[in-house]
Amino acid sequence: HTQESLPEAPLTSLLNQPLTGEVLPLAEYYPYVLVGGGTASYHAIRAIKEHDPEAEILIIGDEPLPPYSRPPLSKEMWFTQDQAKRRALRFTDWQGREQPLWYHDISAYRLVRTHPDHGTALVYSAQQTTKAPLLLAEHRVTDLDVEKQIVRLDNQQVVRYGKILLATGGTPRELELAEDLPENLREQVTTFRDVRDYQRLETTADRAKHIVVVGGGLLGSELAYALAAGRKLRVTQVLPETNVLHNLLPRYLAEWTTQLLTKGGVKVVTQQSVTNIRAATPGSQPESADSRQLRVELSNGDVVEADHVVQAVGIEPNVTLAKRAGLETDTTHGGIVVNAELEARRNVYVAGDVASFHDVLLGRRRVEHYDHAAQSGYLAGKNMCGARDAYTHQPMFWSDLGPNVTFDAVGVIDASLHTASVWAKPAESEGSTHSEEYGQGLVYYLRDSRIVGMVVWNLPGRIELARQVVLRGEFRYKHVQGLTRMFNIHQL
Ligand code: FAD
Ligand code: NAD
Repeated sequence: HTQESLPEAPLTSLLNQPLTGEVLPLAEYYPYVLVGGGTASYHAIRAIKEHDPEAEILIIGDEPLPPYSRPPLSKEMWFTQDQAKRRALRFTDWQGREQPLWYHDISAYRLVRTHPDHGTALVYSAQQTTKAPLLLAEHRVTDLDVEKQIVRLDNQQVVRYGKILLATGGTPRELELAEDLPENLREQVTTFRDVRDYQRLETTADRAKHIVVVGGGLLGSELAYALAAGRKLRVTQVLPETNVLHNLLPRYLAEWTTQLLTKGGVKVVTQQSVTNIRAATPGSQPESADSRQLRVELSNGDVVEADHVVQAVGIEPNVTLAKRAGLETDTTHGGIVVNAELEARRNVYVAGDVASFHDVLLGRRRVEHYDHAAQSGYLAGKNMCGARDAYTHQPMFWSDLGPNVTFDAVGVIDASLHTASVWAKPAESEGSTHSEEYGQGLVYYLRDSRIVGMVVWNLPGRIELARQVVLRGEFRYKHVQGLTRMFNIHQL
């Protein structure tokens, strides 16, 4: 055992802190190994700590932070006024409370780092007496052998596991044309998924005059709205569909939401795709902050000059490791195939965005949302400790466009289904008896006239009720009126 200070990690605010403590070699075997340091893994840790408190847990994640929550990165972080807070990765939530982005700061973990000289991972710990989980950050698992129950790390170290969780999430897709961009433009045509992406985009937004966001899904819309709010910055959102959130919301509501973005300062360019991106003036220096550096060409022939392009065009689940290990992947939904107990093979569990699971009510699906990552991560952790529970949770998601429009959703949210909507009549404003605003309301999604999904619009605290409606699986179109009464949509 030696006493050393922790080698500095590049980049980061948190893992950068020099720590001293006892230094141990990484063990050859851990009963629980979690691959990926995101939301699903964090909740698996919670479950394992509850059900097997003494067990050692090794988390291997390739980001430079302990597990943290991504949703504020496209929402509250942009509305948090205090820059020092933002730099420290803290944000003010919509209720005005200050929160950190991470679930637990690094003091809750025993840190593992590859020593720069001898190349092997060492455990640095100021707290040997506790069974704090071991966190190997900024490292990837490159190989998995499910027969021998071993993983190989990117520093070639090999660790044997008892049970393993694959919670590798997804990687943002890139536009095909982005792959062919010259090197000097690649920094200006980016994707958005993690804290580093947030930090870089915030710096860019501080000096840019015009940012183009490509994509009309949840990320593109939340980010475009947040970028435009309170900044002297032009934001153009380019999407192939007729409205933002086109795949999720009924047409009238998607139209209304598009107008909301427009009123929020976003120029929404619909039914267009980006056909080319070039340097505005060939040979121009990227440092010249005042010049428009990119020419973004659209399918209708328009050219938009911008400083930066953010691609928000969906994710690809990270299945490379699983494929190489011979695990089954889902060619329809993407992701790693697991049974209802979230098991891919004996002692191999999968949770979060990367899991293609059997929903006992709605069939096989993959869900790319927070609540699912948290609940499936927790259940996987519990099952890794010996439980045999099926994943029966019906996951919800939420989205916020700034502080004033928020919706929750549960079940199948697919705009191609028939829908029925009920809205609270807006309070009569002076001089008019009608407002087009969609204040509070409910959208029911119907398959074979059965309710399979619900959106709860600006109505806090109702999602559990909506979940029960979907879970019961028996409600039909004819029940909509009666059900709506239970939601009390006139009362906030
Ligand atoms: P992730 O959080 O992606 O974590 C996986 C981790 O594994 C990553 O750090 C990845 O780098 C790492 N990894 C991958 N492969 C390896 C490997 N081989 N070795 C080591 N590490 C590896 N959902 C909502 O419901 N509501 C929201 O408002 C919302 N907002 C969002 C805002 C943003 C900006 C983003 C990006 C997502 C948002 N989501 C939201 C979705 C939600 O955050 C995800 O569903 C959730 O993060 C999935 O968790 P996960 O643990 O499965 O994957
Ligand atoms: P998404 O799958 O929700 O939306 C993809 C969008 O990309 C489509 O709506 C379309 O407009 C666009 N698109 C696809 N191909 C395109 C192309 N070739 N050219 C132009 N546009 C194209 O994915 P996202 O919005 O990028 O979000 C990324 C991930 O983050 C998803 O997993 C999402 O669930 C998650 N996320 C969730 C929330 C939330 O739940 N509130 C918020 C932000 C991000």
